[in-house]
Amino acid sequence: MNPYRLPRSVVPSRYDIRLTPDLTTATFTGVETISVTVNEPVREIVLNAVDITINAARIAGERGEAQEGHATADPEHERYRIEFSAPVAPGTWRLTLAFAGTLNDKLRGFYRSTYKDPSGVPRMLAATQFEATDARRAFPCWDEPDFKAVFASTLVIDPAHTAVSNTSVVSETVEAGKKVLRFADTIKMSTYLVAYVVGELEATEPVQVGKTPLRVWCVPGKKRLAAFGQDIGAASLAFFESYYGLPYPGDKLDLLAIPDFAAGAMENLGAITFRETALLVDEAQATHAELERVADVVAHENAHMWFGDLVTMSWWNGIWLNEAFATFMEMLAVDAWKPEWKRWTSFGVSRAAALSVDGLHATRPIEFPVNAPREADAMFDVLTYEKGASVLRMLEQYLGADVFRQGVRDYLERHRFANAETGDLWAALGRAADQPIPAVMNEWIFTPGYPLVSIRRDGGALVLTQQRFTYLGGAEGQRWKIPVHLRIDTGTGQPVTRRLLLEDVEQHVDVPAGARVLVNAGGHGFYRVRYSAELVATLVERLDALEPIERFNLVNDTWAATLAGLVPVNEYLDLTARFHDERDRNVWSAILGSLTTLNRAIDASLRPGLEALVRDRLTPAVTALGWSARAGEDELTRQLRGDLLRALGTLGNDAGVQARAAELYAAHAAGTNPATEIDANVLPALIAIVASVGDEPRYREFLERFRRAATPQEEQRYLYALTLFPQPQLVEETLGRTVNGEIRTQDAPFVNRSMLLNVTARERAWEFVKANWDTMDRLYPKHALRRLAEGVTGLVSAELERDVNDFFTTRKIDLGGKQLAQYLEQLRIAVALRERERAALEAYLRR
Ligand SMILES: [Zn+2]
Repeated sequence: MNPYRLPRSVVPSRYDIRLTPDLTTATFTGVETISVTVNEPVREIVLNAVDITINAARIAGERGEAQEGHATADPEHERYRIEFSAPVAPGTWRLTLAFAGTLNDKLRGFYRSTYKDPSGVPRMLAATQFEATDARRAFPCWDEPDFKAVFASTLVIDPAHTAVSNTSVVSETVEAGKKVLRFADTIKMSTYLVAYVVGELEATEPVQVGKTPLRVWCVPGKKRLAAFGQDIGAASLAFFESYYGLPYPGDKLDLLAIPDFAAGAMENLGAITFRETALLVDEAQATHAELERVADVVAHENAHMWFGDLVTMSWWNGIWLNEAFATFMEMLAVDAWKPEWKRWTSFGVSRAAALSVDGLHATRPIEFPVNAPREADAMFDVLTYEKGASVLRMLEQYLGADVFRQGVRDYLERHRFANAETGDLWAALGRAADQPIPAVMNEWIFTPGYPLVSIRRDGGALVLTQQRFTYLGGAEGQRWKIPVHLRIDTGTGQPVTRRLLLEDVEQHVDVPAGARVLVNAGGHGFYRVRYSAELVATLVERLDALEPIERFNLVNDTWAATLAGLVPVNEYLDLTARFHDERDRNVWSAILGSLTTLNRAIDASLRPGLEALVRDRLTPAVTALGWSARAGEDELTRQLRGDLLRALGTLGNDAGVQARAAELYAAHAAGTNPATEIDANVLPALIAIVASVGDEPRYREFLERFRRAATPQEEQRYLYALTLFPQPQLVEETLGRTVNGEIRTQDAPFVNRSMLLNVTARERAWEFVKANWDTMDRLYPKHALRRLAEGVTGLVSAELERDVNDFFTTRKIDLGGKQLAQYLEQLRIAVALRERERAALEAYLRR
């Protein structure tokens, strides 16, 4: 018996909830009547509630019999026990509870969020965030995903305010000077999907998607930033209705931007909440990356309305499938909406992030048993979202898109309004594909890591072998069933693609001599490839014959092999010199990412050498692209220009680029240059470059721009620009703002992380983090320190590494899950690279 599971002797079917939040005192009161079925005689009812006080309890039967209950808190287990003097007989009952709580500032449960209205006056709103187990902080409930029930909510609010919940408002009345909003019944759903938002809110006009009106909500003054989010909201909703073959399960869909929000967004049925940067954007002033982020998050949450909300995991071990699937569907929907964004190519960057963590000894299987719900908190990571989505994509490509969709439809149809397990999806896909899915998928889901496929020629055959890839070696004996796509180009006629399932440690494939062979053609496989010297040489000669995702994988796999000590660093740096003609943004992001990592791992004396190398690699592309967008140019090229200029001006320390950036920024700031002359994708690069060589007056100017930003994206650009000023006193100043309330707690941990990763600020930032750890733990939302701690991967020296390990060991810090161990291992890998390649880098960068 799992002590974290509630007894099944009493099961809820309906909650009638009436909540009265008071934004001036930051408190709330509530009364709820829960319709329950009692399955066996009970003297007590146990349900979840924490940080709220139950003041009265009463149970009533269908024939009018009733008795008062005595409520006792069990805070350790986040429960209340309602005891009755006489046994409650089997049958249906109505349990009525009165309770009270606080609108907290921890961004979970029922919480308060603050913002300034357009005239600068501070305002407050109340919002909820319940996943995984925080509904119990807003109302007593059976807070486990398989206790699905109908929710009928009423909110009693200030007449000047409005409120949004999962369903439409069915009545609005006035009682004792208060506005009373009653909402329609929800579908049968899990507690973690209930949502309430209360405050001065404004909404767009609804757009109609089939039968569903879809609106965007925000605090006053920001409605002008809602159009783009509403567009992708409508497009993805229509896409999913058609893909899933089932209508949207709610009666309306509201997307709400909340000024303080711990995660990116939350898929509450019919009332999806977002942090502002993930929903509100000025399309004309935003970069491609900023727009893509909004599109991704909105599509992701909409995908959950079916996969997650309509059909829900039975328990938290299934959270990976929920998130992996929504991530996979987000790609499909955005790719269908804007094919010119080539979303599956940029997904390579996400897949690479998963490969990077999953190559560690401290990785974990995608799915693992979960007892306490807090163990599932550790599932909200790159292995769940990005590895999970990658293996689903690999499976979809292996089965075929139509078969895969057929299986998904079957799964949703069978389990709607109910709960399901991973095995249920495999069963449905297996029926559609007429083959057993677990046989192919089990190693990918239930064992950690992934394979390295090595390939060499042996006479007339290719020899493919598999072994687990790890950066630090020493993991033997695992095997996967790997769907391998080979592209074989014999030089005569069209190249052919061969598909095979690599099951054994070694497999031979007959291929004519002299053929060029690419492994992982199309780039969907979740594995790395290592070619023999002879085979890789033929690929590198004709990079233009590869798809962008294939070039990306070549760079990314070679860099991983360099970090693992399998390829010398100078060979990798030679490879990067082959990409002067590269124009794909993702390939460049792989190259720039590796050079940024290298920059953290070299002695300061070698920095001018690395800067020169960066200039050598980037300048041809930057010269060809210029500073301004050209007529008819696509969005990806514009974003690439911004990325490369930024890297050349910062990592490359290019004086010419810095001077030009300062000039253009001055014109932008003075308004003498029409804003249209500086492309929206270039402006953030200018801001970053100017900050990285900026002085104190510039810091004051950027601080002011952060405070007065007109859009969430502009606010973020100036906020992160503050982390780039190199002067020690400005570094200290920015760090100070992460704990004094000036930077929102939703952003502060990420600002600390950026500074730990920045070579000019990292040592001061580390001292600051150590000194303020407890303060941050108290101020920031739950899990924030886990995100902040990723910054230690930037502290790449033997001495700093020792200090980092000492700190976490002596302070006995446990962030839950394996993430801290992963960061420490990543730091170990980077320090090992630094020590192993010191002489080679010395020779390469000083030449
Ligand atoms: Zn999600």
